[in-house]
Amino acid sequence: MFDHRKLGRELELFDTDPLIGAGLPYWLPAGAAIRHALEEYVRDTERQAGYRHVYSPVLAKRELYEISGHWAHYRDGMYPPMDVGGEQVVLRPSLCPHHALIYRSRSRSYRELPLRIAELGGMYRSELSGVLGGLTRVRSIALNDAHIFCAPDQVAAEAAAALGLIRQAYRALGIEPVRYRLSLAGSSGKYAGEREHWDRAAAILADVLASAGLDFEAEPGEAAFYGPKIDVQVAGRAERETSLSTIQVDFYQPERFGLQYVGPDGGRHRPVMVHHSIVGSAERAVAHLIDTCGGAFPGWLAPVQLAVLPIGEAELAPAEAFAREARRRGLRAEVARPEDGSLGARIRAGRLVPYQAVIGASEAAAGQVALRLRDGRRVPAMAADQALDRIAALVGVQSTELWPGATGR
Ligand SMILES: [Zn+2]
Repeated sequence: MFDHRKLGRELELFDTDPLIGAGLPYWLPAGAAIRHALEEYVRDTERQAGYRHVYSPVLAKRELYEISGHWAHYRDGMYPPMDVGGEQVVLRPSLCPHHALIYRSRSRSYRELPLRIAELGGMYRSELSGVLGGLTRVRSIALNDAHIFCAPDQVAAEAAAALGLIRQAYRALGIEPVRYRLSLAGSSGKYAGEREHWDRAAAILADVLASAGLDFEAEPGEAAFYGPKIDVQVAGRAERETSLSTIQVDFYQPERFGLQYVGPDGGRHRPVMVHHSIVGSAERAVAHLIDTCGGAFPGWLAPVQLAVLPIGEAELAPAEAFAREARRRGLRAEVARPEDGSLGARIRAGRLVPYQAVIGASEAAAGQVALRLRDGRRVPAMAADQALDRIAALVGVQSTELWPGATGR
């Protein structure tokens, strides 16, 4: 496994500054490009699955977290309240309470359920400075979060669909889970809510995993304070594993917030909240990708997807036109100019770039490019337009294959 902390600096993906503080990394342009592509993928996947996106503030009154239960059960992970004009406001430790209020902002009918809300939003965790490092232990987190408000008999199908989204994303990202964990309440007093609800939620989640044909291990003491969850575990460095994606069934917060919907019988009923995250946080997901691929990201995530290499000065103009056309089609393309070194040196410098397009005199004259793939394979010279069509199509479907069918070297 690679070390994302070291590579993050070497590849200029992210860094920290003592003046900003430990656990508060900033994303450099190359890292931001990866994160942006990942966020776009997540939003698009959620949108296609019937989610609607919202934005909510990263601060709220302390009272909100007293109602949600975070203040009683999760205060150690929260920042101390700030006094603002006699009110206490807190950096949020999760997005759930805001989404519960969005649900509650007007009356809801059973016809609107399942109501799916998603947000890529900031949340804050008061980690001690000793444990901070890289992108895995941070104080500021960009969470891919979603909440489904549904009727009790819709919970299983929604949780199963969420699991399907997670598995689809892992295929696109090339991530292999090491195991699925059913995280249950432990014996400590940090868990809230009724025993009967916990048992029901755990049974639903166990059934979702079993129906998907997945082996899992139940682990007491790993649940959220408000309910049990499925954690998708991936390999971490030094033989540790970390949780990336999660699905949680929650009867507790709907009760605390007094959430309701009007049923077909005209009566008021309590919805259930299914919380889930397809890729976890942007920080953890990108850290895991760097740890496992060492900077050779799938084409659709690569900071630079296409490097254009004119052999000499004479091909610079067609190379620049080709890169412009690539960018116009949404690709991240850059020209590696002849003054940056010999062709061999430029090819080596771009060794992590999925596609390199070499343009010599004959290619320039014919309006063609000769493609080299990151793995060393070569594609025979082809029309520049055709090459861009193919690359854009592969990137557009999040292909983990750079050029299906290419064989030659
Ligand atoms: Zn939540």
